[in-house]
Amino acid sequence: MINIAIDGPAGSGKSTVSEILGKKLDVLCLDTGAMYRACALKCIKEGVPADNEIEVGKLVDAIDLKVEYRKGAQRTVLDGKDVSEEIRLPQVSMVASTVSAYAAVRKKMVGLQREIASRNSCILNGRDIGTNVLPDAEFKFYLTASPEVRAKRRFDENVQKGFKESYNDILNDIIKRDEQDKSRKIAPLAKADDAVLVDSSLMSVEEVVEFMLNIVTKKLK
Ligand code: C5P
Repeated sequence: MINIAIDGPAGSGKSTVSEILGKKLDVLCLDTGAMYRACALKCIKEGVPADNEIEVGKLVDAIDLKVEYRKGAQRTVLDGKDVSEEIRLPQVSMVASTVSAYAAVRKKMVGLQREIASRNSCILNGRDIGTNVLPDAEFKFYLTASPEVRAKRRFDENVQKGFKESYNDILNDIIKRDEQDKSRKIAPLAKADDAVLVDSSLMSVEEVVEFMLNIVTKKLK
């Protein structure tokens, strides 16, 4: 059984790279950001303001959140409903960043993540996998790129999904969210000392996958 941690800021390509790598290695992928997004969506739906830590904590403590896999793809199920698409709405991102800073939210989500990782070989991507969720993961990568490159990638993705958000709004959101994720007290976004740094600003998805795959397969041989 192996666990691979891929951390990095918003829009660095963690999910895309993880999915391809997961297929090549035939292991599950767990996008942990989806879980914080589901917490955020629940707050939005229940009308709980993101800055009310106590109420958010209560809500998440009782959350009915399941991660399921259909044809190998992760589905996020909240209160019995598949919300995998809804959690990607741009307005969910910032709320996810705010509520993910709370101890009660992190405790609950990290518990679920560790449980999944203990039962399966998998690639977990997020912000604190290498530093906090799985400090003993066999492989750790920290994937980053310049904010402009990340914003452009997210913009192109959004156009495909039909979300209307300007490049400048995306860039501002990414910069603000990185700042918030890096500066929080509990498990901030950070590169683990033993993680391999990959700056994908000038690399294609295929090149990043190839680079990571090389490191993993060499060690597994
Ligand atoms: O990766 P994604 O952009 O979907 O994550 C949404 C938010 O969830 C991030 O901005 C971050 O605040 C939070 N998150 C986290 N820890 C993780 C994964 C995501 O705090 N492991």
